[in-house]
Parts: sequence; structure tokens; C-alpha cells
Amino acid sequence: MAQVRLEHITKVFGDGAEAATAVDDVSLEIPDHEFMILLGPSGCGKSTLLRMVAGLEDPTEGDVFIDDVRVNDVEPKLRDVAMVFQSYALYPHKTVARNIEFPLKVRGIGKAERAAEAQRAAEVLGLGPYLGRKPGQLSGGQRQRVALARAIVRRPAVFLMDEPLSNLDAKLRGDTRAELVDLHRRLDSTFLYVTHDQVEAMTMGTRVAVINQGRLEQVGAPQEVYDRPASVFVAQFIGTPPMNIIPGGLLGDGSVRLGVRPEHLRLDTGDGATGAGGGRVQATVRQVEHLGHEVLVLAHGNGDDGLALTARLPPEPGLPGAGDVVEFAFADRHVHRFDAASGERLP
Ligand code: ATP
Repeated sequence: MAQVRLEHITKVFGDGAEAATAVDDVSLEIPDHEFMILLGPSGCGKSTLLRMVAGLEDPTEGDVFIDDVRVNDVEPKLRDVAMVFQSYALYPHKTVARNIEFPLKVRGIGKAERAAEAQRAAEVLGLGPYLGRKPGQLSGGQRQRVALARAIVRRPAVFLMDEPLSNLDAKLRGDTRAELVDLHRRLDSTFLYVTHDQVEAMTMGTRVAVINQGRLEQVGAPQEVYDRPASVFVAQFIGTPPMNIIPGGLLGDGSVRLGVRPEHLRLDTGDGATGAGGGRVQATVRQVEHLGHEVLVLAHGNGDDGLALTARLPPEPGLPGAGDVVEFAFADRHVHRFDAASGERLP
């Protein structure tokens, strides 16, 4: 059981002309047993943030609390956290069982108890049949699960995970995502999980903290962040394909930018089905991608070549082809409005 609290955390690497701010005044509270995702593009500072919770990096400013205890000066091994990285860092000459029980050996726990704990963690992750193998005789996904099992036996109050699934293929990633959610449900631990993959964030997180250039852009439940993005950055980072951003000037108000999700763009066939009060954009189709369950129509706005538009449409007859001029329409209730200058969401 643990709550993690970050108060005004800043991290600057280097000094003088070389100084670079990796994390910029981040405050975040992660309640006990939350599955919190730190989400953002490469280089946004999410790993640095995680490493400061682990104690592997010192904040330049600000405080880290675990269960109301300020841990800035507490050694990593005394923080009751376990970290799982993208690289599994297993001992190649030790068996799976020995790898898993290693943290307990370091703690001086007896052989029988170690073996029992390792066995239990292996069962949780479906590794029972592989306990006698060496890491070299396992698949990437199995190795990743050994690294997870090794973290589990420590029974940490907080799990810190840094892109632990990025080495896995798509199918295995999907399976392991589900396993992690299940694991979180069964363990009494708080999870702090770093990723740049918005699918992981949407499917696993209780809440998501979106980070951009070291700053916190938005914190909320995944669906909330999807439905009400706080900025153009969040709107375009969450959702695949990303939200269309249309300059308000095209529709008569240059002080705003309008956001419309690809699933909310319709091909206007002139039957009035899109409802009153919305908007329309004329565009030329660049490419049509048939994905089986849906079709993506990629276009650029007529009169504004820089305006890229994507619509997600059902795979039905009558779809346009490359080069066709179409009219996209959208209903008012699906429009997100952002300040044209700051990119922030408008009420
Ligand atoms: P990725 O997903 O690519 O790992 P990230 O969001 O985790 O990215 P960080 O690793 O936290 O990003 O890095 C944030 C910024 O701090 C980057 O610009 C990086 O170059 C810089 N940085 C990280 N570690 C150091 C270091 N030890 N010394 C100097 N700069 C660093």
C-alpha cells in the first residue's frame, strides 16, 4: 500500500550554457493502488520523472513523498519500490527460478521460502513450466515476464515500470497488457508506468498524466482525457489517427482552432444527416486506407494545402477515391474548441 506524491519537481541536467530542463515543475499525486500512466513523446521527461521516484536521479528542485515520507534523501533500496525496465537485465547463467528469487537471496531469505515465493510469482505470470530454463532459452515475452516476476517477489509498495512492453511483438504486447491489468487488480500495489504508447495508456491506466517538454499537460481518467483534451497537444497525442485540427479562420473565427476526431467527420452527401449548426470543409482525397473493419480517408483541405484531414468511415459502398473532391461535415456537439494562440481548450 502506498501513495506517491510529487511536489513541484524540476530536473535540470548540466549547467551554464549546457543546462537543459528535462522536468519542469511537475506536481502529481498518485493515490494508493492507482495504475498511473506517464504518457508523452520521446524526450518529454517521463523516464527522468520515474527515476526520481526510484531514487536513481535527484530532483534539482521539489520533493518526492512516498506515503507522506519525504524520500529525497532515502537510498533507492530503502524506498520499497521495484523498477522494471524495457531491457530485462536477467542473469544469463542463472535459471528462471534463480533469477526470480534473486532479490530475496540478497535480503537473506532462506532457500525454501525463496523457492516457494518464486514458484508463486511464476504461476501468476504463467511461467511455471519454464522455471528450470535459462533466459537464453526463452522468448522475449517470457523473459519480460521473468523480469516482472522478479519485481513481484519483492512485494514492493510501488511498481515503477519504464516501457516494459516495447520489445514485444503486437500480439504479445496485447496479452501482456491484459496480464498487467490483472496483476494490478490482484496485488495491493501502486503502479507507475511510463510509455509513449497511447493504446497502453488508454487500456491499462486508472489515470493518465500527459507530459509535453517536461511539463504536465493534463491528468485524468483515460476516457476523460480522450473526450475532453485540455490542449491541442493532448488532442493530437491521444487517439489514432489523431484529432483533426482545423483553423477557425476557415469557418469565420480566426481566434480559435477547432478539433474534430476522425470518427466524427462524415462525408456530406447533401441529405442533412450531419445535423444543423456544425461545419463543413471541402477537401481533396489523397489516399484511402482499407483496414477491414473501417476505412481511413486521408485528405487535404481545399484552399489550405497545409490542412490535413482524416476521416474514419465504415467500409460501405460509395466511398471516394484518391483525387476526388469531397465535402466533410461535422456536428456542433463533436467540435472541440482551442485558443488559436495558446492551444488551450476553451470552455
Ligand atoms: P524516451 O521515451 O525517449 O525514453 P523520455 O520521455 O523518457 O524519453 P527522458 O529520458 O526523461 O525522456 O529525457 C528527458 C530529457 O532529458 C531528454 O532531452 C534527455 O536528452 C535529457 N536527459 C535524460 N537523461 C540525461 C542525462 N543523464 N544527462 C543529460 N540529459 C539527460
